[in-house]
Amino acid sequence: MDWRVPLSDLDYGVEEEEAVMAVIKRRWLTMGAVTQEFEQEFARFTGAKHAIAVSNATVALHLANLALGIGLGDEVILPSLTFVATSNSVLYTGAEVRFAEIYGPGDLNINPESIEAQITSKTKAILVVHIGGFACNMPAILDIAKRNNLIVVEDCAHSPGSYLNKRHLGTWGDAGCFSFFSNKNLSTGEGGMVITNRDDIAEKVRILRSHGMTSLTWDRHKGHAYTYNVVDLGFNYRIDEIRSSLGLVQLKKLPAGNARRKEIAEHYWHRLQAIPGVDLPFCDAAGDSSYHIFPILLPENIERYPFIDKMRAQGVQTSIHYPPIHKFSYYQKRYPGLTMPVTESVSQREVTLPLYPGMSDEQVDYVINSVQNALKP
Ligand SMILES: *Cc1c(COP(=O)(O)O)cnc(C)c1O
Repeated sequence: MDWRVPLSDLDYGVEEEEAVMAVIKRRWLTMGAVTQEFEQEFARFTGAKHAIAVSNATVALHLANLALGIGLGDEVILPSLTFVATSNSVLYTGAEVRFAEIYGPGDLNINPESIEAQITSKTKAILVVHIGGFACNMPAILDIAKRNNLIVVEDCAHSPGSYLNKRHLGTWGDAGCFSFFSNKNLSTGEGGMVITNRDDIAEKVRILRSHGMTSLTWDRHKGHAYTYNVVDLGFNYRIDEIRSSLGLVQLKKLPAGNARRKEIAEHYWHRLQAIPGVDLPFCDAAGDSSYHIFPILLPENIERYPFIDKMRAQGVQTSIHYPPIHKFSYYQKRYPGLTMPVTESVSQREVTLPLYPGMSDEQVDYVINSVQNALKP
């Protein structure tokens, strides 16, 4: 479909083309010097001690969970209002999930009170998701974790360039996991990163990323190692030099891209708050967001699919973040009868509007006018 305003768009240009060509000319494609540089720059950018690049955020979460010792017999508390990968990454380890509620229409992030209510003798970790790049209540969550001796993992798929109290998201908990999927703020097509301040976790993630091996092809190419040992049951979750070169360029563009997203979001909020019955999540959120997505909640009496159709008819692409995980048939089979009233009532009303750095002011106004038209009876 030819959208007048798509949901998102890549912030790509000649810099990305040149970076890829430079890798091809150097004739080393698998994980090597460019990936190391990407990891160093990402660590510097976030202020984390370690950054380990991987194939995507799903495996970043899987590795972080494994490295932190999450496994069979454990339970992990997480929101249901997130992408299914967050929850799947826990199930891969053999652990079970327990879903906690979100705050409500003003804040789509996990509610610390609901986390406390889900704690059992099996609880091992809290896995938070900073929806849209808006920070979860990390002081309250860390306090719960400390009192109950729990690990904290942060799904930062939406949050490169997001801060709370000037501290980058992903550095509050034991590990933070980022996504560089096509439609994310920093995009390499597929790609991900684990950040951590813990030496033991970084070492474990590095080993598990590449088959549990003690040395890489790259180390042997450089003459640093003769052979290798396999010390754990690892995976091939590596990234490659082409994607890492894209990541380096995109990282440089990230602050300006996020600043433009902020401008657009504030303009949206300013104009949409005048529409009766529309709720605007995060409009008074704490911290500095990456503004990954722009969610709105439709008035209670408006049917969502006809609204989406009316937006489509005007050439505006929208999305839904998210259908709650506990309602999917796989999860209903695994956790029969589970209901979550707050999550369900909010997510039913949610529609995500277009937001990306390349959006013109005219496009933003066009989307706002389209929303007003689509809400007319
Ligand atoms: C995109 C996303 C993921 C998965 O990222 P991939 O890099 O595609 O594996 C996980 N969690 C959230 C919240 C996401 O938005």
